[in-house]
Amino acid sequence: MPNNLGTSERPLRVAVVGSGPSGFYAAEALLHGEMAVTVDMFDRLPTPFGLVRYGVAPDHPKIKNVIKIYEKIAENPQFSFFGNVTIGKDISVSELRVFYDAVLFACGAETDKKLGIPGEDLPNSHAATEFVAWYNGHPDFLGRKFDLLQEIACVVGQGNVAMDVSRILCKTADELKKTDIAQHALEVLAQSKIKEVHLIGRRGPAQAAFTPPEIREFGELADCDPVLNPKDLELNPESQQELAEPANAPKKKNFEILKEFASRTALSKQRKFFIHFFKSPVEIQGSGRIQNIKLEINKLNGPAGKQKAEGTGQFDELPCGLLFRSVGYRGVAIEGVPFDEKKGVFSNQGGRIVDNNTVVPGLYATGWIKRGPSGIIGTNKPDSTETVGKLFEDVPKLTVCSKPDTQAVIAFLKKKKVCFVTFADWKKIDAVEIARGTALGKPREKFVRVEQMLKAIQ
Ligand code: NAP
Repeated sequence: MPNNLGTSERPLRVAVVGSGPSGFYAAEALLHGEMAVTVDMFDRLPTPFGLVRYGVAPDHPKIKNVIKIYEKIAENPQFSFFGNVTIGKDISVSELRVFYDAVLFACGAETDKKLGIPGEDLPNSHAATEFVAWYNGHPDFLGRKFDLLQEIACVVGQGNVAMDVSRILCKTADELKKTDIAQHALEVLAQSKIKEVHLIGRRGPAQAAFTPPEIREFGELADCDPVLNPKDLELNPESQQELAEPANAPKKKNFEILKEFASRTALSKQRKFFIHFFKSPVEIQGSGRIQNIKLEINKLNGPAGKQKAEGTGQFDELPCGLLFRSVGYRGVAIEGVPFDEKKGVFSNQGGRIVDNNTVVPGLYATGWIKRGPSGIIGTNKPDSTETVGKLFEDVPKLTVCSKPDTQAVIAFLKKKKVCFVTFADWKKIDAVEIARGTALGKPREKFVRVEQMLKAIQ
């Protein structure tokens, strides 16, 4: 017999795990969909917005304007926020299913991919994602130390995360001090001795993953010149063919910007941003900390659109005191949810969680934990709409949860002494952070400790 889920007598109850862009777009699609739905959103941090708060670069404030849309979604009376609740620790997936008819994971990709080369774990070799989280004031990364007293830093990978990290290293403290960068990071960056930042790409300028606004900024920095070898801009026929494709207009724009950089002669600024192509790190060398990177020179191999980097057996060396790998993110498994180790995502088909190709009823995924770490914030909207569409299709077959009551969830968390944070509580934290920022001439000064956040609510 079909259930009555999604009716006004018995709204469908969905737990959304994760409060970043994909979580909020999923909540929006659920609440504005074809049936009555109640959404409870969980986040392990007291603060919502995930990567918008802890991933978007502090000097790119306009990107954070999407928060206004998420705040509107959170105003819906059928929406509740439970911050400071870790799924798998404070409440398990099977416990969630007592209170919700469906659980939708939007928990992003919390860790990074490694290079898998010797020396990668030497001191001063870091994941770019850790540096990003540190300068954005993520509580888990407060204690991290980054040795900015080195003069030469390398960033491996040429995506927009690599660009963010490089730009923060290349900017002066004056350029950063009016942003919402965490004060502890600003203080360390203000003492930086970095003179050279080297961006290392394994393929060529026509394949670089960064986007035109991001590369263009390196030509406009206060005290840093972009530098590249004009020989790297000599394209093979396949790359020329790639750039002629209308779909590759942004890559063509990248190429034009790089050409303009290569034509610059008056390089008088203190710092230099070297852009390398066709090089793969094969070994990180050093004693006590990294001192040198061994790079293999690559050539491109394969047809247009599918060219891969292939080692030539020729090598180069680069002295380097600090290294950030920025070669992509990976999701982290949660107990009770099938995980695809190869892809670093929850095993899913179009957002339905599957176990060995069999759908696990009532479990869904969206965003980076569904498709992997790709796309911009807006990419998550159609992605979440797809997952919610599948969820709505499945409603007649869903197992009805036994305690369909948000008050029962609150009682459960209180019994376990979980100090959860509501959206109204978050707005209190938000107001105090903005006031702290105003005092420093910044848009916000984030709390970097969970205890400080909880105290601000009281
Ligand atoms: P990404 O765009 O996928 O870039 C990954 C980079 O790592 C590529 O250059 C890739 O080269 C390289 N790479 C991968 N494996 C490698 C290896 N073993 N050795 C050397 N290089 C390797 O990833 P991301 O930078 O982490 O960004 C994730 C997503 O967030 C992207 O969609 C990005 O656009 C988005 N994002 C956007 C912004 C913004 O809009 N401002 C800011 C940050 C992030 P190949 O191309 O050769 O694979």
